[in-house]
Amino acid sequence: MAERRFHELLDAAPDGILQVDASGHIVLVNRALENIFGYTREELLGKPVEILIPREQRLAHESHRAGYRQHPSTRAMGAATALEGLRKDGSRFPVEISLSPSPSGDVDFFATAIIRDVTERKRNEAAFRAEQEMKTLELERANRLKSEFLASMSHELRTPLHTIIGFSELLAEELQGPLNDKQQRFISHIRKDSAHLLALINDVLDLSKIEAGRMELHPEVFDLPAVIDESLATVKTVVTEKDLHVTTTITQLVPVEADKVRIKQILVNLLSNAAKFTPARGRIHVEAKLNGGEVVVSVADSGIGIPKEEHEAIFDKFYQTGVTPKGVREGTGLGLAITKQLVEQHGGKMHLESAPGKGSRFTFRFPISRRSSE
Ligand code: ADP
Repeated sequence: MAERRFHELLDAAPDGILQVDASGHIVLVNRALENIFGYTREELLGKPVEILIPREQRLAHESHRAGYRQHPSTRAMGAATALEGLRKDGSRFPVEISLSPSPSGDVDFFATAIIRDVTERKRNEAAFRAEQEMKTLELERANRLKSEFLASMSHELRTPLHTIIGFSELLAEELQGPLNDKQQRFISHIRKDSAHLLALINDVLDLSKIEAGRMELHPEVFDLPAVIDESLATVKTVVTEKDLHVTTTITQLVPVEADKVRIKQILVNLLSNAAKFTPARGRIHVEAKLNGGEVVVSVADSGIGIPKEEHEAIFDKFYQTGVTPKGVREGTGLGLAITKQLVEQHGGKMHLESAPGKGSRFTFRFPISRRSSE
């Protein structure tokens, strides 16, 4: 009775089950195994188990079997190798096998194998992988097209914009005749907004280059303090206008090897943000020092500060928070995204300490030379 129930259970199992004796002869099979391999029970019982294995794998299997007898344990067989089964009609199919020794106490050694036909699963996996590869390719293509489009569009937009900026400057200089107050005001709007547009286009171009992996750095050896001075000069107008107090502390610097133009771009970005987000008569402090093989530069301000929950988001593209102390939204929201990417491309890192009302300190560090970064 128990014997019959046991066989019913075996035959109900969806996986093929077989048992071999110490010499590798089949002593038990279930119905699923008959179906999977296309043999009848009678054809299999007493045969070497290698009958179910493709010819060239038989030898290896025999030695595996001997090894398994020495160290029997329950395990998935050949997890790393692709195992195959051989049907009666000679066709082959992928299988997954788990193996267990017979319960201890048996006089003779038996091993039980559970065999699953994984043809369907392998096919699904292959189809899934192919689909993923297709998607990745499509995505890469779309991304490349986007970057190329942005690059060429930015270029096309800049040319006429330079004309607008150039001629409005000429008009403002009044060399062609005096302008009345209203005309001066109109011209100044044109100049301000076209300068903003140019900055935006340049930012978009930079970012699309970075994202396309086409932003090349041109490292050279230079003195950082000189570049800090140049960068401060570009924000001089705002600093004077708002009567900001600017100080610098530079300690033990040696010449650095980096892309000078890009390092200046990083500094100008941070400095113009500091100037923009600090109310009149506030302070800006620039610090540069060496730390191990790294240059550490920070730009601190006594401005409006940034709440903790926005410390990450402000480095995202087009992210702008609140308003400037003047109450107007300026800038493009791209500056910090570009700045962070440029720092990282130099093998460096950005860091921010800031709280509302407490000012902000943006710090970036990068290896003093290309060699020390490798
Ligand atoms: P933009 O300055 O063009 O708006 P950024 O990417 O440079 O774009 O800056 C993103 C946002 O981060 C700013 O809009 C501002 O809200 C915040 N931010 C950046 N620098 C400062 C700063 N020094 N103090 C306060 N907020 C800042």
